[in-house]
Amino acid sequence: MLRPGSIAIDGPAGSGKSTIGEQLATRLGYLYIDTGAMYRAVTWLALQNSVDTNNGPALAQLAQQAEIAIGYPKIDDGRQYTVTVHGRDITWAIRSPEVTRAVSTVSSHAQVRAVLIAQQQAIAEQVMAVMVGRDIGAVVLPNAPYKIYLTASLEERTRRRYAELLAQQKLYLADGNAAESILPSFEQVMSDIQRRDNIDRDNMQPAHDAIIVVTDSLSVQQVLEEIIRHLEEPTV
Ligand code: C5P
Repeated sequence: MLRPGSIAIDGPAGSGKSTIGEQLATRLGYLYIDTGAMYRAVTWLALQNSVDTNNGPALAQLAQQAEIAIGYPKIDDGRQYTVTVHGRDITWAIRSPEVTRAVSTVSSHAQVRAVLIAQQQAIAEQVMAVMVGRDIGAVVLPNAPYKIYLTASLEERTRRRYAELLAQQKLYLADGNAAESILPSFEQVMSDIQRRDNIDRDNMQPAHDAIIVVTDSLSVQQVLEEIIRHLEEPTV
């Protein structure tokens, strides 16, 4: 019997948190919430509306007014969930290289974080969720009954992100899009992860009571099993 409450999973880009988070949520019947998608949605809106990504108050206002919703996928095109803003489906748009380049700057503003953190806390009040991000255990849900921090080496994280982009490129082409490549090189992916790690560092602390799982040499199944083992440990 699990202790009631949402489960926090944090970790840097490519640590495996979205794959693990989704599978854990499915297994437990919880809602999967990827908070990175919320920061990406605000970034997408800022780029669409030519809002300066250095202007914290303007971005926070955008985040406040935006009706960002994350729900079950509904469309079978490889997505984990559907993200809408003001009812428009932006699930794939928020994965663009432009959004990825700008998202860490947008999320570095305390005003933006305050708005999105309040929205994340409101979601967790309403449903049992597996909530995935950078600061969930330490800041968003400090009272979560279970906190997991996943991590892996930069090389391994780059390999995973590259494989993910390759799969997305295949879906993109299969969808009838022009054959132009949207795939960056391995080195570009690595330097982008490093750049984001650096900007994200301030907002990326493992909670003091998180279980840290180093995922380098572990399969998805092994990581899941380790987490489940931890969830099933009797409380003292
Ligand atoms: O997880 P993902 O790579 O999609 O997250 C995109 C960006 O959103 C991160 O690089 C980080 O800047 C920001 N983020 C954050 N806090 C979270 C989740 C994501 O600052 N809880």
